[in-house]
Amino acid sequence: MKGYHDIAGDGGSRVLEQVVEQRARITDGLAGVRHLVAVGSGKGGVGKSTLTLHLAGALRARGLRVAILDADFNGPSQARMAGVQGALFVPGSHKVALPRTANGIGVFSMGSLVPESEALDFESTAQGESHTWRATREFALLGEILGSFEWGTLDLLMFDLPPGAERTVQYADFLGPRASFVLVTIPSEVSLGVVARSVAALSKGPNRLLGYVENMSGYYCRDCNAVKPLFASGESPGLGIPCLGTVPFDPELARHCDRGIPLEDLPGTPVGRALDHVAQQLLDSLP
Ligand code: ADP
Repeated sequence: MKGYHDIAGDGGSRVLEQVVEQRARITDGLAGVRHLVAVGSGKGGVGKSTLTLHLAGALRARGLRVAILDADFNGPSQARMAGVQGALFVPGSHKVALPRTANGIGVFSMGSLVPESEALDFESTAQGESHTWRATREFALLGEILGSFEWGTLDLLMFDLPPGAERTVQYADFLGPRASFVLVTIPSEVSLGVVARSVAALSKGPNRLLGYVENMSGYYCRDCNAVKPLFASGESPGLGIPCLGTVPFDPELARHCDRGIPLEDLPGTPVGRALDHVAQQLLDSLP
């Protein structure tokens, strides 16, 4: 049997050339993007997608050019939340044009391609549940998406990351040192514990940690127009990185996210003001 050392070059697979070609396409595709901002956490269900979409909206309202790449390929929420679930991907001048929200945010989400009733399966020749294989396929897909869509001239490309502290670091590796990170937590010790792992893991690398957002920090009661406690947590110990702001839970926002329609009165609510504050903090902390 032949060993690896007996195979000349890459054995004819052109795998190295393919990686180099894809890297060149990605670099070329993102040449017009000023900032790469990844919104992660480590924890799931804490509001990464909701904050990504609404921070993008607050930045767009400031006149910035923003797009979102929903990198949660197996649990994509952006298509539904941003109202681009049935959007068609149409050929642009060179690459594929991005579906856009009514306020002009370009959104790529697997949810526009794969119906919610279907799972996204990565065909595997590996035995059983091979996480390595899965991660490899996911990043190959991410590379394809980055290289195939028209990102154009953007101030920010925001990545809505999947859960998992380890995956958050894999995204940092893939996107390279120019990607900055915003982490999302909720005020529970369970969430803070997981997000602290992401902070620790990311801190070992070169990526800038812009800070964290505490989401669901209270419940906005529309009947009494007051923010009430939601979690029975005391003073938050923080995460050792800047806190970009706290955002309360507003059931109306959740309802509008479910339907993929913008919440008209958002700017006048505590949630809208909180998101606006976080968006400004995020902008101020960009390199
Ligand atoms: P993640 O991306 O971290 O998995 P999501 O953004 O999907 O989390 O949020 C989980 C659920 O909570 C969604 O239904 C979303 O609409 C809702 N949600 C998140 N943050 C808020 C908020 N501040 N106000 C109202 N609903 C929220």
